[in-house]
Amino acid sequence: MREMITRYAPAPTGFLHIGHIVNAIYVWGVAKSMDGRVRLRIEDHDRQRSRREFEQEILDDLTWLGFEPDGPPVRQSARGDIYSHALDSLRARGLVYACSCSRAEILEAALGPTDEIRYPGTCRDRELIEGPGLGVRVRLEPTVERFVDLRHGPQAQRPSEQCGDLLVRDREGNWTYQFAATVDDWMQGITHVIRGDDLLPSTGRQIQLARLLGRAEPPQFLHHPLIMKSPTQKLSKSDRDTGVRDLRQQGWSPARVIGHAAALVGLCDEGTEIGAANVSDLFAR
Ligand SMILES: [Zn+2]
Repeated sequence: MREMITRYAPAPTGFLHIGHIVNAIYVWGVAKSMDGRVRLRIEDHDRQRSRREFEQEILDDLTWLGFEPDGPPVRQSARGDIYSHALDSLRARGLVYACSCSRAEILEAALGPTDEIRYPGTCRDRELIEGPGLGVRVRLEPTVERFVDLRHGPQAQRPSEQCGDLLVRDREGNWTYQFAATVDDWMQGITHVIRGDDLLPSTGRQIQLARLLGRAEPPQFLHHPLIMKSPTQKLSKSDRDTGVRDLRQQGWSPARVIGHAAALVGLCDEGTEIGAANVSDLFAR
């Protein structure tokens, strides 16, 4: 059996909050229960929003909590050549095209079968010349992507109808999350992607993209519950009351912070204290 490798992949666009701890509990907990490894990836593909200070704070909070990755962090901002190379391979097969559409134009033209914004394919056959100020998209196949989520069971998704042709690089020249993460998961040999339920609907497109890129076998996916601010609103990094920094300053111990986060998604009872080294116990049942 091949070795299990997963990743913890924070975006340095804010402080670590209790929702990130839930993700860390699942990532390290499941990895340890499978004798796997955890790679750390800094998802700073968005150059306008990522800040080095946040990265340092995140790494510092992870160390304080006791979550230790295997190996040094990989930064997406340093991997432009790798993404370019991956894009070249798609381009060589005629799978990409330039797109001049603004977000407002797409919003106006698009109404998909779901509540997601679907790119309607406006530039698909315009044969625009790629260059500054233009985005790049990959042509999706109209296939149904079937996979088994390790928590939710069998899934079937049709990305070409959900989101339309995927943006690979935006008009500002940023690599998109979907593209960078898919390339990185392949290049880093990630066998298991463990992340929040909000990303379940975008799994099919990552599986298709991985296949178009040439990855023989996609990773397995596990999507876990999110802590919600309200039934419709996710926690965000700006919710300071749930920041790890603030809990630290209030005198909480790492084991109390981790136990609190685990209790919020039903992994244990509130008041349980659990160290980072023991989070796999939560998955042993
Ligand atoms: Zn377009």
